[in-house]
Amino acid sequence: GDFGVTIKIGANDEIGQLAESFNDMAAKISQVDEQRKKFVSNVSHELRTPLTSMKIISETLLHEPSWDEGVYREFLQDIDGEVTRLNHIVESLLYLVDLEREELVLETQITYLNYVVHNVVRRLKPIADQKSIRIEVHERDKIQFYLDQGKIQQCLINLVSNAIKYTPEHGEVVISIYRELGDACVAIMDTGIGIPEKDLTQIFDRFYRVDRARARATGGSGLGLSIARQIVTLHGGDIQVSSTLNKGSTFIVRLPIRQQGVGG
Ligand code: ADP
Repeated sequence: GDFGVTIKIGANDEIGQLAESFNDMAAKISQVDEQRKKFVSNVSHELRTPLTSMKIISETLLHEPSWDEGVYREFLQDIDGEVTRLNHIVESLLYLVDLEREELVLETQITYLNYVVHNVVRRLKPIADQKSIRIEVHERDKIQFYLDQGKIQQCLINLVSNAIKYTPEHGEVVISIYRELGDACVAIMDTGIGIPEKDLTQIFDRFYRVDRARARATGGSGLGLSIARQIVTLHGGDIQVSSTLNKGSTFIVRLPIRQQGVGG
């Protein structure tokens, strides 16, 4: 790491150890600084794209005042779509930044995971219906434990809406709830387009999309999976993914079954 300073003391004594931990710290700070710069650059890029589109549309409208109402309406609809996209990106970013606050405390309550899943399905069913996608819920177990309901719901909304978004018409989404090795699991399987193997490790990164052009068309922010993973991590769990191109993907959320509130 290069934070500008490196202390060179080779001795195996206390000062030597102090110097070593200082150097470790400097390396860490410089790494965090690098990540922050990259993040700001990514955010700026993400915000610039819809802004550029809107600028082009409004300039076109301003320079050709003789268009009829239909054309205006069409352009306005495009602007409206871009504003919606921008809004979605900013909202997701604020939500993610909030989740990453060091002082964040989960609001856990004893809750049936099954109930949270049903809420999610009820909310997303209209979107699935539009594409004639069937959503099935398999409840192998009924599992009740301490979780932050709002956040787990958001996590599952992100995963299930991806499953719907990346599955062609007449496909299927199967959600299974089961217990495994003391963990509560929710598996979300879809019969969608799948994810290339080389992208599998990166899809949880902020703003990462397998196919930028297609992601734009589907209106994503590239933050949905980062948010989902952060929520699961806060609960002490993890998310696994497996996928076959043109066949479908399965995301498995694994949560430790806590019978007590955090710190209780
Ligand atoms: P986005 O807003 O683009 O959907 P996400 O963070 O939710 O962002 O997902 C990141 C990328 O992972 C997506 O752009 C997509 O390429 C891929 N992806 C996520 N879920 C699925 C899925 N169920 N099937 C296929 N690809 C997926």
